Amino acid sequence: MATNKIKRCASCMWQRKKCSESCIMAPHFPSTDPHKFEIVHRVFGTSNVLKMLQDVEENERAVAVNNMAYEANARLADPVYGSASAVYQLQKQIAELESELAITQEEVARMSRKRDVLISIVIGGSHVWSTTQQTDDLILEDIDLLWEPLWNWKVDSIKMEGSG
Ligand SMILES: [Zn+2]
Repeated sequence: MATNKIKRCASCMWQRKKCSESCIMAPHFPSTDPHKFEIVHRVFGTSNVLKMLQDVEENERAVAVNNMAYEANARLADPVYGSASAVYQLQKQIAELESELAITQEEVARMSRKRDVLISIVIGGSHVWSTTQQTDDLILEDIDLLWEPLWNWKVDSIKMEGSG
């Protein structure tokens, strides 16, 4: 910051003119980061960058410059779609993650229904299950799987009895 008085900003350096303390570009395009100015200059043109900065409030200029730099970078990487390409990719990713989340939530609900049936069997015996039985195809399909943990538990407890 202290060296700003002596050094020209990247924009004034590019235009080969003197930089003043009132230079609107100076706070956002320091001479230490000429690349930042170069890319926005290449994509938007210096006069347009200046105009855009003049059109926004002083406290919003830093954000405006960052957005311009982001868009300029994206535009150079993808001349046709620019940042729209990144937005599209992220939207696609969101959609994929949302459908993954829906599948996982469905699986959690299924497991918790299984757990409820299993608990009712353990606590009340099979006659309780038959009265609280849900007509849920998923559960009826998986009834063999349902018995598996019980069977394993029984086998484990027999083993423990045997070894102890
Ligand atoms: Zn300047």
